[in-house]
Amino acid sequence: MTGSIAERIANIRQQLPPSVRLIAVTKQVSVEAMREAYAAGIRDFGESRTQEAEAKLAQLSDLPDLNWHFIGHLQSNKVKKALEQFQWIHSCDSLKLAQRLDRLAEELSLQPKVCLQVKIVPDPDKYGWTAPELLSDLPELDTYKSLQIRGLMTILPLGLSQQEALQVFEDTRKLADKIKQQNCSHLRMEELSMGMSGDYPLAVQAGSTMVRLGRIIFGERTA
Ligand SMILES: *Cc1c(COP(=O)(O)O)cnc(C)c1O
Repeated sequence: MTGSIAERIANIRQQLPPSVRLIAVTKQVSVEAMREAYAAGIRDFGESRTQEAEAKLAQLSDLPDLNWHFIGHLQSNKVKKALEQFQWIHSCDSLKLAQRLDRLAEELSLQPKVCLQVKIVPDPDKYGWTAPELLSDLPELDTYKSLQIRGLMTILPLGLSQQEALQVFEDTRKLADKIKQQNCSHLRMEELSMGMSGDYPLAVQAGSTMVRLGRIIFGERTA
């Protein structure tokens, strides 16, 4: 890994279409490094733990125009905290969680933007909806009024070839296209949250609108 954080961000930006939002994933990253990213133009930070995010929000409260994205598995006892901290929840991964998010968002008078996490390659150990499960839960999801469901999110299984990875991203986009044709009244499919450090060029090729990049900006995580 070469260059400063600012140089790496500039380099990545150059490769991304202007419409793709670059989310800097800052789990285990210091607030000093986050300030460097901010100075280089980053306004979107992704975190996977509410506790870690809480400390960082406090330390970065002088930066007025940040968007915080929750990208980890959300336990039900952390839902309220997550809603208070994050404008975006990318990792809404079950109907039960969506229900709870909507109910608490209503209580808190919040309207978080949400992506539904899907697993195109079925895997019992991974979180998220399979395509058939999501299609069958769609009518229920479309009744939620406080959640602003805006798209799909996916994380690739490990060990795919480039071709297989591209296929998973394209299948995710096709699923979003199919959902668009279901005449939902509230739920919208405008965003595709896909692509991490190892695979984001393929995700962008397949139509990603939000890439979530950590290591390629900040270096390897230690834990
Ligand atoms: C950690 C994480 C990322 C960033 O991964 P990198 O390989 O560091 O780019 C993106 N999305 C999710 C859901 C993550 O947990």
